[in-house]
Amino acid sequence: MAYVINDSCIACGSCQPECPVDCISEGDIYVIDADQCIDCGSCAAVCPTGAINPED
Ligand code: SF4
Repeated sequence: MAYVINDSCIACGSCQPECPVDCISEGDIYVIDADQCIDCGSCAAVCPTGAINPED
C-alpha cells in the first residue's frame, strides 16, 4: 500500500515537508514513491485539494 497523488494536485508543495520518509517529489504535479511510502497519511491530511488518497 501507498498513498497516491492524483491530478487534483495544484503543486502547492504543502505535503512535501510532512512526509517522514521524504518520498514526495516535486513536479507539475507532486509524486509519491510507492516503494518508500509507509502509508502514514501525513501528506493527505494537509493537502488543500484532497488530491492524496490511499491506493486502491
Ligand atoms: Fe510520506 Fe506518509 Fe504521505 Fe506516504 S503517506 S507519502 S510516508 S507522508
